[in-house]
Amino acid sequence: MNIKSQNIAIIGAGITGLCTTYALLKDGHTLTIYDPAGFPADNASFMAGGMLAPLAEIEHMPHEWIEAGLNSIALWAEFAQQHGQTKGFDFHQKGSLLLAHDEDRHILQRFAAHLPAGKGEYTPTKELEPTLAEKFPQGLYLPEEAHINPAPAMHTLCDYLKSTGATFIQEKADPSTLNAQYDHVIDCRGMGAAWEDKNLRGVKGEIVIVRNTELTLSRPVRLMHPRYPLYIVPRPNHVYMIGATIIESSDSATVSVRSGLELLSALYSLHSSFSEAEIIEVKAGIRPSYPDNLPRIEISKNDNIIRCNGLFRHGFMLSPIIGRCVADHIKGGQNNFLNLLKRDRNEHHHQRAA
Ligand SMILES: Cc1cc2nc3c(=O)[nH]c(=O)nc-3n(C[C@H](O)[C@H](O)[C@H](O)COP(=O)(O)OP(=O)(O)OC[C@H]3O[C@@H](n4cnc5c(N)ncnc54)[C@H](O)[C@@H]3O)c2cc1C
Repeated sequence: MNIKSQNIAIIGAGITGLCTTYALLKDGHTLTIYDPAGFPADNASFMAGGMLAPLAEIEHMPHEWIEAGLNSIALWAEFAQQHGQTKGFDFHQKGSLLLAHDEDRHILQRFAAHLPAGKGEYTPTKELEPTLAEKFPQGLYLPEEAHINPAPAMHTLCDYLKSTGATFIQEKADPSTLNAQYDHVIDCRGMGAAWEDKNLRGVKGEIVIVRNTELTLSRPVRLMHPRYPLYIVPRPNHVYMIGATIIESSDSATVSVRSGLELLSALYSLHSSFSEAEIIEVKAGIRPSYPDNLPRIEISKNDNIIRCNGLFRHGFMLSPIIGRCVADHIKGGQNNFLNLLKRDRNEHHHQRAA
């Protein structure tokens, strides 16, 4: 096994780049991170919900990915234990609660039918989120899920990486130019790579952030609605992040009136106190996505450029595992998830041609 320290460049300081840098630093490599937008950058990661909710993806992802997500939660928990005191790093593993209006109960039942045994249980809402119990007497509780506050998490990660000797360069970079200077270049540019990776597309997500002092939630709550599925993630000081739309577009990161209305009316249907909530922010981000909405690690033939992209709506949920897979690959070690993530760059074209 090759345990020699390598000189490695990371391009992109979203959650993929930061988690990969973290994993590589742990292995003793020399790291330089490039991003023109700063550290942390105001990117798709910075404005994400921060839900670490692999089980909630059970209808959309193969089971191995759910396993990868649960492993990532364990890595976040380990990070929180070691670095939790800085910059309000805000990680909680209190599970998540899925609710449905009476007329939509079948959606919850259909979802529950996909869950592996022991992963979710119908629970009286008053035991978990008493303020919602009147309208929703019972919910489906997924105790293993977690949530994180993205902005403080990224501040904490950047501070830690700087303190341990990683070099930050606020510049745009190009993998094919940098690869002559480094042993490896890890390309984590998100949508910044879309111009040369034709499989990559943008999926817009719009969110609303509100303050509601009349309601207390301890964990993310999902409203299983046929037209406007919604999640609400609690942040400190009665602030709630409500998201997110899923729109096939990377044209602009602006929020439409229609999306704002849909998000807010679904929110109001969850609890009437939201009618008096203060709107703090309305914004949108573009999720870097491949056709199957699953992330990929692509390794160039000479092993020099490693591309990690397509995190779609799973950046926080899967980046710790992506980072670990890259670090293990460079070390020449084994990682069960690497085969799941590894893709040939032109695989999609080949599949279509076949
Ligand atoms: C509304 C919304 C809600 C979300 N909620 C969740 C959630 O609850 N849980 C979850 O797990 N995920 C969530 N996501 C998904 C998550 O945000 C993305 O999967 C994640 O941001 C992708 O991270 P990334 O690092 O690959 O890309 P990005 O965060 O976009 O970072 C890419 C970085 O690369 C930089 N870059 C680009 N080109 C260059 C270049 N040439 N040189 C140097 N740097 C470059 C950019 O400046 C940027 O900083 C959400 C996304 C959205 C939009």
